[in-house]
Amino acid sequence: MEPVILDGRKTSASIRTDLKNRVAKLIADGRPAPVLATILVGDDPASATYVRMKGKACDDVGMGSERIALPASTTTADLLRVIDDLNANPSINGILLQHPVPGQIDERMAFDRILPGKDVDGVTSAGFGQISMGMEAYPSCTPAGIIRLLDEYHIPLSGKHAVVVGRSPILGKPMAMLLLGRDCTVTICHSRTQNLPAVVRTADIVVAACGKPNFIQGDWLKEGVVLIDAGYNPGNVGDAHYDSCYPRSAYITPVPGGVGPMTITMLLLHTVVSAERRAQK
Ligand code: NAP
Repeated sequence: MEPVILDGRKTSASIRTDLKNRVAKLIADGRPAPVLATILVGDDPASATYVRMKGKACDDVGMGSERIALPASTTTADLLRVIDDLNANPSINGILLQHPVPGQIDERMAFDRILPGKDVDGVTSAGFGQISMGMEAYPSCTPAGIIRLLDEYHIPLSGKHAVVVGRSPILGKPMAMLLLGRDCTVTICHSRTQNLPAVVRTADIVVAACGKPNFIQGDWLKEGVVLIDAGYNPGNVGDAHYDSCYPRSAYITPVPGGVGPMTITMLLLHTVVSAERRAQK
């Protein structure tokens, strides 16, 4: 049977329509539009593009965005001061620090300076800890988008064996915690995992998040697997080899158009939720 394509573009568009309505309702109730602050340090062109895309996505749903661009020579102390100001500013509902920052900055310290209530990108250690404990927090956006996509297609998670290939702080680890929170049995693989194909073959759900183009092969997969490819590499290819994985899968995400569009949508969603919570205070 042909696999079902998990359409991140379509799912994203329908969530954004809902967000537009929620933003309009806040404004109709006399509240300000939600505002996302983005911080870009340095002049990495890819990071600049991502920040621009996030600002445009805010505009598209009627939200505001405040773009802060800092020079490549910014110190950790400078950056912490900027984050403190945004934390204290009541008109800012969410803060996004674009990753990666220049090497002289203590990135972990900077992420962890963001107040939990404004950590809409889900990057703080505290937020990760809370998510891991099944507590309320904004999860990291890409794993949150993957869970939302699985839910939109009513894919059962409880009791399934999920294999996550990758253990980065923004993707693999929080992904594993969210799947565990949904009662999956989770295996986390990484660059030292031995006999990866055999481990992947035991999975009902595979999340490819290793940053290696076309890495996961179709003959590693159990027939009827749910294959989520979080990878995004030059040439528009994912971390799984789509053509060989397609015939083995019951559900599969395309690259592009699968996980990618969900990530920014989750960032918008978390910022709107943050503004709605503020409005209730
Ligand atoms: P990362 O920080 O480079 O982490 C890669 C992970 O993969 C590491 O844990 C690494 O293991 C593991 N790995 C590397 N080689 C491996 C191998 N041969 N076998 C098994 N595991 C291996 O990457 P990331 O930021 O998590 O991103 C992963 C992918 O997702 C990339 O393709 C990236 O472009 C994509 N991404 C997409 C979005 C989106 O919005 N769609 C967002 C973020 C990332 P070690 O820990 O042992 O080094």
